[in-house]
Amino acid sequence: MEQIILQYTEFLTTNSFLLFAYLIGSVTFILGLKMLSHPETARKGNLIAAGGMIISIFGTIFLYKHHGNGLGNYAWIFAALVIGTIVGTMAAKKVQMTAMPEMVSLFNGMGGACAMLISMIEYHNDATPSTGKLLIIVLGMIIGTVSFAGSIIAWGKLNGSIKDKTIPGGQMINFLLFGGIIGLAIMVVGGFVGADMAHMLFYGITALAAMYGILFVMPIGGADMPVVISLLNSFTGVAAAFGGFLYDNPVMLTGGILVGSAGTILTILMCKAMNRSLKNVLIGSFGAAKTGGAAGAKDQGNYKEISLNDTAVLLAYAQKVMIVPGYGLAVAQAQHTCHELEKILNEKGVEVVYGIHPVAGRMPGHMNVLLAEADVPYEKLLEMEDANDQMGTTNVVMILGANDVVNPAAKEDPNSPIYGMPILEVEKADHVIVNKRSMKPGYAGIENELFFRPKTSMLFGDAKKVLQALIAELKTV
Ligand code: NDP
Repeated sequence: MEQIILQYTEFLTTNSFLLFAYLIGSVTFILGLKMLSHPETARKGNLIAAGGMIISIFGTIFLYKHHGNGLGNYAWIFAALVIGTIVGTMAAKKVQMTAMPEMVSLFNGMGGACAMLISMIEYHNDATPSTGKLLIIVLGMIIGTVSFAGSIIAWGKLNGSIKDKTIPGGQMINFLLFGGIIGLAIMVVGGFVGADMAHMLFYGITALAAMYGILFVMPIGGADMPVVISLLNSFTGVAAAFGGFLYDNPVMLTGGILVGSAGTILTILMCKAMNRSLKNVLIGSFGAAKTGGAAGAKDQGNYKEISLNDTAVLLAYAQKVMIVPGYGLAVAQAQHTCHELEKILNEKGVEVVYGIHPVAGRMPGHMNVLLAEADVPYEKLLEMEDANDQMGTTNVVMILGANDVVNPAAKEDPNSPIYGMPILEVEKADHVIVNKRSMKPGYAGIENELFFRPKTSMLFGDAKKVLQALIAELKTV
């Protein structure tokens, strides 16, 4: 402890300009995060936080002094910066909106790997670390490794290269692995073994943590992936905060704590949106284990189709229309066409609002981002509770590429894997029109009885093409 305080005092006295840069960095992170919570300010908030990150990085490179020396290794540092910037920029420019969670997962894994490597390097650099420092090194390594391994599995599962797998006795194996990690960590940090043995155990803990990360994410499937990604994100934040402790680096500490706490809050909010506890998500293997309500499990009866012309008439003579967007709208890239439909209906005196489910699409806030891209006014987007309150006064609900988020099984079928998840209660409206390409299920892989209900009519086809044709029809009504 004394050693840490001495190091910190030296850092404060010789790096006052750097500390100022870190202060700017920390303030911009907090400001940026606050602004990210609203779609109107999110873009600006992102830029402000990125600016703070640039100040912190270049401050560290050029202002850092230790015993009168700078960082050194500039060629390595700049080579890594250039490569990272090129790869990051290209990946971000190329990525499809629907593949965003995959990219978040992969980048989050890289953060975890960084924290893991920092701990390994610091373990090597300091032959006689204090118990406090050793504890920080080992904790950062464990959490960073779990996050790295887990995020890579999540990335593989999201892009379809890794399939959901329930390993027999998986929970027991994970429990034993967790116990093993804690036991070995106590032996290393507590100094209960010699230096050589401690070295071996240190790498043993890394291997166990990697196995734990893999096995912990492997059985989690279906709609629970976003919760897991958010949880892993918070792990990376905590691991980075440990790195901040190790390097006496306040901005790394602030950044890590912000990511850790924001990730934890998002995890809790997503669990609430699905009406599931975190424990249930982690050990329930949603969508992977249960079979109740699976596609084709029940004979649902007949569904009825509606023509484009009838849909146009129904919409044009409605007083209020609620559009419920889902993943399919993003796939079809039909957000601009959807906004066009809304404007035409407005011109005909029809009130149009959007009902936004918190987990519609494939990432938190997906529908908000998608519709903001098409300049849909933000006040037209209703959160789920408000949308449900207004459902009774809505004449037509137009579902565009959404499925799970309107599935009544979530309320009515205790055997359904999505039972308990709050949904948009579209059946409270007078008419329900569902646009999708086929009768195939959505992300959770379960059939949707809504499509067979009396109020529902199916309008098959790609969302963009159907909306374009509908706009043409509306012009003639
Ligand atoms: P779903 O995945 O339940 O359904 C999407 C529907 O869109 C499919 O049934 C598909 O049917 C249809 N579709 C696909 N392409 C098109 C197209 N080009 N035109 C028209 N329709 C199309 O989406 P929801 O948004 O309703 O629900 C999201 C699901 O994803 C939930 O289960 C959620 O938990 C999960 N999830 C959410 C994340 C998040 O953070 N928001 C992240 C990861 C998962 P068809 O093939 O017949 O066209």
